[in-house]
Amino acid sequence: MTRGYLVHTFGCQMNEHDSERIAGLLEGDGYVEVTDQADADVVVLNTCCIRENADNKLYGTLGWLKPWKEQREGRQIVVAGCLAQKDRDLVRRKAPYVDVVLGTHNVHRTAELIDQARHSGPVTEILDEAVLDDQAMFPSALPARRETTYNAWVTIQIGCDNSCAFCIVPAVRGAEISRPFADVIAEVTRLASEGVSEVTLLGQNVNSYGRDLQVAARQAGDSDARLRPMFAELLAAVGNVDGIQRVRFTSPHPKDMRVETFAAMATTAAVCEHLHYPLQSGSDRLLAAMHRGYTAQRYLERLAAGRAVVADLAVSTDIIVGFPGETNDDFAATLEVVAAAEYDFAYTFIFSPRPGTEAAELTAQFVEPSIAAERFQRLRVVVEHSALRKHEARVGRIEEVLVEGPSKKDPSVLSGRTRQNKLVHFTPPQSLRAGAYASVEITRAAPHHLAGRFVELLAEPQHKRRIAVLAG
Ligand code: SF4
Repeated sequence: MTRGYLVHTFGCQMNEHDSERIAGLLEGDGYVEVTDQADADVVVLNTCCIRENADNKLYGTLGWLKPWKEQREGRQIVVAGCLAQKDRDLVRRKAPYVDVVLGTHNVHRTAELIDQARHSGPVTEILDEAVLDDQAMFPSALPARRETTYNAWVTIQIGCDNSCAFCIVPAVRGAEISRPFADVIAEVTRLASEGVSEVTLLGQNVNSYGRDLQVAARQAGDSDARLRPMFAELLAAVGNVDGIQRVRFTSPHPKDMRVETFAAMATTAAVCEHLHYPLQSGSDRLLAAMHRGYTAQRYLERLAAGRAVVADLAVSTDIIVGFPGETNDDFAATLEVVAAAEYDFAYTFIFSPRPGTEAAELTAQFVEPSIAAERFQRLRVVVEHSALRKHEARVGRIEEVLVEGPSKKDPSVLSGRTRQNKLVHFTPPQSLRAGAYASVEITRAAPHHLAGRFVELLAEPQHKRRIAVLAG
């Protein structure tokens, strides 16, 4: 009998991408996706420990999955992802009825471990590091079940060599490993041949892509290896793949932002004019405490260099408010940088300690929650003001919009994204399929979206059919 599965994802884009691979692996093994949990035989919880309250969310969900599992023989619960990697046996101790616990380095083993647990009982398999020379460690190298047909994520790197004091990623995803250049291009070429026109290159620190490959090449005797990142070359090569109209990437690290990358963005037509450029704090004192490797001035100088080279560059960022020890002066410095940077969008967070990180140990310096909340509100006002100004400047312009589908609030309205990654709502005179390109005149601006008037259809989607499972 066919078995049904459901994957619940808690977390970042990397996790969502891993979930696509888990779904692809299960479908390759004969499972079908179900929408109702009552029809599922396997529920996978793909966890993330970067987000706040991740453990409460996981153990809360496991609590209500216990009776679900007991209702029918053969049902299985799988816990995967960062939190599983970090908590390991704790997951089983807290929820002994979980069938499979697997970590971030063995996603490719999901289907096998489920099968193993069905026949031999519960299994926990956490690897401490990725298995080198095994391309299966790259989520993109695995079969996938993508949610959309016109865009795709492509993992170019896993892990992170930095040590930001607030971040658990290096502990759970390990050291940086770049995917071979030719493999990335081969995947993008295959995606383009299937009708994908937009790709997002994914990694924790994308702009240091390739440094490890160069070091390995040098060690293997290649004296021409240049020991510097190859991200700019990769960006240009991906953007020149036939059929690829848009290339995005996330996330770069400000300290590794190089002029070559801006040059590649400016000269490769497909690379979108959008840079996610995480600030975290505008205070040099806190940037040092966070181990970010740049000062506010250096950050702004590089941003100005990027804007000078890449015309019409939209910039988004991440900012943490209330990092341990943050004073009024530190926060004022952040507001100053935010005003100077003129962001189009910002993800703002109140600091919350992630167990296992350096910052979580700084309990004596934790900022009073009411002070952090008040600063957070002030920052939101400044950020929204900046975003609205940026959006208002686009009113009257004709923008290229990649259609995503009906708006969540009003199905008669379509939503899509501009090259600057701005959400645009518009009403087309004819029905347009997801993946089509349209030109839209911007008529109205709000802090988080734009509204516009359909001008013309630029291109129909290239995909002919829904792509259910990709070969690895
Ligand atoms: S660069 Fe810093 S914030 Fe980003 S993944 Fe690495 S350690 Fe975490």
